[in-house]
Amino acid sequence: MSSLSIADYFPWRRVKIVHQNVNAEPATALVRIEPDRRFRAACHACGGPARTIHSHARKFVRDLSFGQHEMTLQIEYRKIWCDACGGVRVEQLEFVDASQRVTNRLAAYAVQLCNRGLSIQAVAEHLNLDPKTVKVLDQAALEVKFGQTCYDGLVRLAIDEIAVRKGHNYMTVVLDYDTGRVVWMGEGRQIETLDEFFKNMPENVRNGIQAVALDMWEAFINAVKRWCPNADIVFDLFHVVKAFNEVIDDIRNEEFRKSDQQGRELLKGSKYLLLRRGEDLRRNQRAKLKEILAANERLNLLYWLKDLLPAIWSYTSKSWASSAIDAWQAVAECDGHPALLRFARKLEKYRYGILNHCKHPIHTSKLEGVNNKIKVIKRIAYGFHDLEYFTLKIKQAFPGKISDN
Ligand SMILES: [Zn+2]
Repeated sequence: MSSLSIADYFPWRRVKIVHQNVNAEPATALVRIEPDRRFRAACHACGGPARTIHSHARKFVRDLSFGQHEMTLQIEYRKIWCDACGGVRVEQLEFVDASQRVTNRLAAYAVQLCNRGLSIQAVAEHLNLDPKTVKVLDQAALEVKFGQTCYDGLVRLAIDEIAVRKGHNYMTVVLDYDTGRVVWMGEGRQIETLDEFFKNMPENVRNGIQAVALDMWEAFINAVKRWCPNADIVFDLFHVVKAFNEVIDDIRNEEFRKSDQQGRELLKGSKYLLLRRGEDLRRNQRAKLKEILAANERLNLLYWLKDLLPAIWSYTSKSWASSAIDAWQAVAECDGHPALLRFARKLEKYRYGILNHCKHPIHTSKLEGVNNKIKVIKRIAYGFHDLEYFTLKIKQAFPGKISDN
């Protein structure tokens, strides 16, 4: 009799391999496993020893493939009476969880493939598993690592919203500015959304938060003021330019309506030229923009004001930055267009946070990375049907570095 054995591929205690059946077409293998009766069965729930065997049962479990052969284990196991639990329980097996239909090592392999950026669908096809099974396995592994919010080491934060579905359905994202770690994500963008994040933050961490970069969004501003008494709120250039672009667009539409045929012809397609950064335009686009600005005094002024905004964020001295805001407002007031006056008032209202940028040169642009990743994660993570899973995948993609600066 040959001494060759496949038993070593199943190096598990308290069980023994009793039968193997290998099929060529389709390439499958079935291995039967029974309890090794030299050992007493233990309870899967509490680990306690079994006093009596209640009954015998059988289940089929997928294992790692054996070469080309898809491996299934036929497991004969026992149900026991557990004194500690006070009930009938399934016996504990070290290689498969009581509720699972795949071995722990196959589960680990599936998770490993997910970690390498393969989509759930691709992993499911590769291993011939149900995509739902793969998702459950991946989610369970992520939950262990990223399920709890880690508040360690937080000093400066960037908070922003991301749109997870077109046009609506926002999620709030909190980033550790210094490490780039996604700390937390929550559904919505209300003050209550952030309350959920801050209410579990230890008091000493809350008191130690020095600065938070934000959009000029009252709900977030109020939440930070409520929870972080020592934090300076910082408004970044990105959101101010974005808000001013809306002003430009509104006024451009107004100018278009007022124009005659020739003027309309000139303004056609000008939105892109006005809103993009000058350095991103091609030579012929720049020529067209120049023509528009020469022909329309108000758009020319708007464009100039837009160019002036970054200067406000370029100062490290609060008084210089403040003077730059004053100068901007003076020009806007001189023009007198209601939309410009409104924007000048907006700068006034949020002046404190714009000036805080001098002390804390932080911004929310770091969250752009998260935004870019959404598309990828949407593709690999089965869309956004499950925001919890989506959040875990984002946290996995942004674990943070020791120091990002
Ligand atoms: Zn028990």
